[in-house]
Parts: sequence; structure tokens; C-alpha cells
Amino acid sequence: MRPASPGKIVATVLLAVVLVGGVMAVTLWIPPRLLVAVAAEVFADVFFYADTTQPVVALTLDDEPDPATTERILEVLARHQVRATFFLIGSHCAAHPDLVTRIRAAGHELANHHWQDEPSISLEPAEFVAGLSRTEALVQPSGSVKWFRPGSGWFDGPMIDQLAEHGYLCCLGSVYPYDNLIRRVQPILASALAGTFPGAVLVLHGGGRQRVYVGDVLEQLIPELRQRGYRFVTVTELWELAGRRPPLPDRADRQVD
Ligand SMILES: [Zn+2]
Repeated sequence: MRPASPGKIVATVLLAVVLVGGVMAVTLWIPPRLLVAVAAEVFADVFFYADTTQPVVALTLDDEPDPATTERILEVLARHQVRATFFLIGSHCAAHPDLVTRIRAAGHELANHHWQDEPSISLEPAEFVAGLSRTEALVQPSGSVKWFRPGSGWFDGPMIDQLAEHGYLCCLGSVYPYDNLIRRVQPILASALAGTFPGAVLVLHGGGRQRVYVGDVLEQLIPELRQRGYRFVTVTELWELAGRRPPLPDRADRQVD
């Protein structure tokens, strides 16, 4: 057998790089439904999406409130008559209570994103509970379910147990358009549109001057999804629509087993 020519070797390596790179790019671009479905199956206590064929989607906004982003987000949502779920950071709420009042007054769902914008999984259990409660006092979660989303999406079993003890459910999401990384409207928009499916929970980030593009993303994303037949619901509405029932300890009809 003749040894492969250097040209052939280079071509093969290039082809391999392009193939692997392509697969990685597609995987990152559209988090595969299968991956989210597996995660939802494995972590049954965490809400990723609703199992439904109805064209509904829950818009969620993390790291709010912030003077740089909240006003514009509220303006866009109001103009398009969309209710979203805001995962609020306690320390931001303490600094801008007026913005919390405005989010609540606009009819959006308020949820808990802990006290600081950090992976709360690294906190000691007592610290975690303290931050959760401190934030709750300011957020006053407004749905029939109290929702929590951990910073950076990291959670573990003990955290889920602590959340349950305090009447919380953990909500992650199913569409992450990399808005924290890309920071440009068109790629974020394209990723969000490519990834959205009936029952999806879409995660976007406000909170800070470096994220002012989120208003522009919403401005284009909402009409585009509407045109595709989607309607917008809160996380609680999506949860209930999928036939899930909040396992709140104070439910009058709670089954005791
Ligand atoms: Zn966050």
C-alpha cells in the first residue's frame, strides 16, 4: 500500500475538523430536544418544558431588575401584550424596589433567582436558605407556584429538597439562545427561533448595561413567534397547562400518603 500523500492527510484532517466543528456548532446552536427531554426525565423534580403539542411558550427573564434593562423590557412586553416570568435577584430588588413594583403592576409573574447573581449551588445550606428567604421577602412570588431558578442553572438533590421544604419548585428552561455570550441581536434571535418548540421555556437575561440588547431581541422575537402561531404564557400557566399540579404543602386537597 502506498503511503498517503501529505496533501491527502491534510485534506482528511481538514474534513474531520469541519465535520466535528459542524456537529459541535449545531449542538450548541440548537440544544437538541432529546437532550432536554433526557434531562427532564432524569431530573423529574425540575421544570424544563411542558409536554404539550399546543403552540405555547413561556418567556423568562433572569437577573432583573436593573435600571439599564427593565424599563425597555416592560415597554416591549406591554406593547405586545405579553406576560413573562421574571426571575429576580434579591440584591437588585433591594436596590430598585420601584422597578419590582412596576414589574408586578404590569401583571408579570415574579420568581426567585436568589440574592446575588452567582451559582447558588456553592453556598452552604444555611446560606442558601437565608438568601432564598431574603429574596422571597422582596420578590413576593406571585403565581400559585413559587418558582426558583439557580444561578448558572446549577442545582443538586439537596438544593431541590431545600426548595421543596420552602414551597418552591425549580425551573430551568429548554431554549438558551446564548444571549450572555453572543450579545448581538440577530444571532440570539436566530438561535431562539430555531430552538423554540411547543411548551418550551425560553431563557433570556436582563440585568445590567451589558445586556441592553435584550429589549431589541424581544422586540423582534415576540412578533416572529406569534406569526408562527405561538402564544405566550407564564411559567405557572405553562406548568398547569401541561396538567402539572403544584405540590404545595398548604394545598387544601393535598393527598397524604
Ligand atoms: Zn442569573
